[in-house]
Amino acid sequence: GPTIIEHGSEEQKAAYLPGILSGEFLWAQGYSEPGAGSDLASLATRAVRDGDEFVINGQKIWTSNAHHADALFALVRTDPDAPKHRGISFMLMDMETPGISVRPLISGGWRHFSNETFYEDVRVPASQVVGEVNRGWYVGMTLLDYERSSIGGAVEMERQLMAAIEYIHDDEGAEKSRVDELPSVRAEIADRYIEIQVSFNLSFRIASMQASGLIPNMEASMGKVFSSEVSQRVHRTGTRMFGLYSNVWDEDSEYSPYRSRFTQNYFHRIPATIAGGTSEIQRNIIATRGLGLPRG
Ligand SMILES: Cc1cc2nc3c(=O)[nH]c(=O)nc-3n(C[C@H](O)[C@H](O)[C@H](O)COP(=O)(O)OP(=O)(O)OC[C@H]3O[C@@H](n4cnc5c(N)ncnc54)[C@H](O)[C@@H]3O)c2cc1C
Repeated sequence: GPTIIEHGSEEQKAAYLPGILSGEFLWAQGYSEPGAGSDLASLATRAVRDGDEFVINGQKIWTSNAHHADALFALVRTDPDAPKHRGISFMLMDMETPGISVRPLISGGWRHFSNETFYEDVRVPASQVVGEVNRGWYVGMTLLDYERSSIGGAVEMERQLMAAIEYIHDDEGAEKSRVDELPSVRAEIADRYIEIQVSFNLSFRIASMQASGLIPNMEASMGKVFSSEVSQRVHRTGTRMFGLYSNVWDEDSEYSPYRSRFTQNYFHRIPATIAGGTSEIQRNIIATRGLGLPRG
């Protein structure tokens, strides 16, 4: 949404913003490819102009939620002869467009969240390019700055932690909890609570920059790296709250603590420090673009 507001045409705003605002229209992100992750500008999926359309051929990977999405925004190479950041365009396409196919990727936590997506002679109207042709890199980076703002992360973490604290006060939770026996776990929970509050404050700073019309860059990377790493620690601490009961994966088991949410999310959060740009890349952005340190 914010990227279309920033770079989209009036037609694109009218077509997409209402559905985004109501939450009815779902998007998938087609950036990463087997040969282009952290080094995203190496992407090779080709879009060739043919009259009023572009014809797209190539492959994306880690296209999360493509199996639920209504549409996809993708970075594609429109000029293979230009320097690599220059010949890229940002395009919107309906997931039902002929030639797009989706193959599931099942995670280590047995979850179907992400996909490989394949593009074979996919025809997209030229009016679906956001911003200028061959200038899509900058549109794509605006989107990443918004994506990394992590506004929802602190809210979700606080809810999880507070709900678990409530749970250990009821009969079933109290029986499975190890918090009263292990003061070190109590101290860990306090540390996580502090970190969640810090995460909130990083997010508030980002939100206030956005509200003033500024695009957070280093600030978004700080929020992303911090909240993704805290979320992993929150779920690890959550498993410690319940000792050996946390080995139970099945949320319907009578031995499951807190419906195994921490156990399962401990696995599901592993990629949090990879998706949306790895923690190493966020630290590079903070160090170089943010603090002006030499690239080396
Ligand atoms: C669960 C999940 C969901 C995802 N969803 C999407 C999605 O919806 N759409 C999408 O387009 N992509 C998505 N991604 C892809 C994600 O953005 C990439 O995985 C990520 O950018 C890393 O790229 P890579 O996997 O190719 O790893 P690589 O780039 O090969 O990196 C491998 C390792 O090298 C390190 N590294 C690489 N370059 C540097 C450097 N310059 N300095 C220091 N360290 C470096 C990395 O930090 C990493 O540890 C998702 C990934 C995951 C795991």
